[in-house]
Amino acid sequence: MNQEINLPPAQIGTRYSTIEGVDDDDVRAIETRVVLEQGVEGSSAPPEVIACALMRDGSISTAELMQAAKERVVIREPRLHTFVPLYTTNHCDSECKMCAMRKSNDKLKRKFATKLEIEEQLRILYESEGVRGVGLLTGEYEGTFSRLANAFRVGWATRTALDMGFERVYFNIGSMQPDEIQALGEWIEPDEPVTMCVFQETYDRQKYVRFMGGGGPKTDYDQRLRSFDHWIDAGFRYVNPGVLVGLSDEETELVRLVSHVSHLARRGAIVDVSLPRLRPAQGLRNASGVPDDKYLRMLAIVAFVCPDQRLVFTTRESAEVQERAIDLCGVFSPGSPDVAPYRRGGRAQNDEETSQFLVADLRRPSEILSALEATGREVAHFVGAPEEWAAPAERGEVA
Ligand code: SF4
Repeated sequence: MNQEINLPPAQIGTRYSTIEGVDDDDVRAIETRVVLEQGVEGSSAPPEVIACALMRDGSISTAELMQAAKERVVIREPRLHTFVPLYTTNHCDSECKMCAMRKSNDKLKRKFATKLEIEEQLRILYESEGVRGVGLLTGEYEGTFSRLANAFRVGWATRTALDMGFERVYFNIGSMQPDEIQALGEWIEPDEPVTMCVFQETYDRQKYVRFMGGGGPKTDYDQRLRSFDHWIDAGFRYVNPGVLVGLSDEETELVRLVSHVSHLARRGAIVDVSLPRLRPAQGLRNASGVPDDKYLRMLAIVAFVCPDQRLVFTTRESAEVQERAIDLCGVFSPGSPDVAPYRRGGRAQNDEETSQFLVADLRRPSEILSALEATGREVAHFVGAPEEWAAPAERGEVA
């Protein structure tokens, strides 16, 4: 279960990801109670079929599923790790309907972090927030030169973070072709802890066209889906697929996400999994329509059927939902989707005029992670709270 060592051999040359649905007869054949007691290892059925059966079986409560999932993931080492997102720009050439960064949104003030700004943001996260994991984000761009230049820039930022002492870097810059992977990959070695994030958003092709089909590079469903396969073909191993919960029906997304995760794991990838819910953004109400209980059920099922893969959870969700979900997760990512938003000794910006969306919890990353560790949960890639977040008694203050 330790993701840092003993990587399985990559399966070079395996077919591209093809995400299929499941057969209803196969789902009905699953004895859900038996699976719940014995785990997925005792069943010969694919994990996506088991996931579907657990989603449908109303006799099993969400609380039961969460308890079963927690027991399966609690032995994972480290139990949790963290990274903080760092948006390096909010420019984008795509037209995703649910996103404030879409190209045609002329109300968004566009920002671009320079080399010095990115270096300063990394130093703030490292020195002031005490984190050793970072996620680098951009939009997705049209035209070969822009795409290669963006890959090169994010490769540089990744190298800079690793050389500064960050222990893990995620990057989320849209789909990637082999030449773009080469431009980014020349900055790192394949076994360095660098995770490619490419969320499919939805595995329903019609919904994909409806939300992402308005123009720009993200319109190509298959190009996006194949990004991880190119990354694995190039010798890299860390991947993070995901769906944006609320774009399509939950059962379909769950089944296909688990199917994609299984495909990538079979290829030898180390897989983190994201299921963020839609959040409000500039001029967009973006209600996910998925209530907490159903959302937690989805998370619990993914954690249960994919215990070797880490669920990524973020401060998109309120502190209350975080508390309910945290023990299902393997990665907790606090931070802001604004451009270069971190300030020494202060809360991050999450300005509606410049952010991709609005988060539910804007406490400082160090404050949130310290509170988590105070409950007895150790968080890897977090070295401890800066002094100002230590408990009053620890600071020598008397009430
Ligand atoms: S979701 Fe990503 S690709 Fe789509 S408009 Fe927003 S930033 Fe651009």
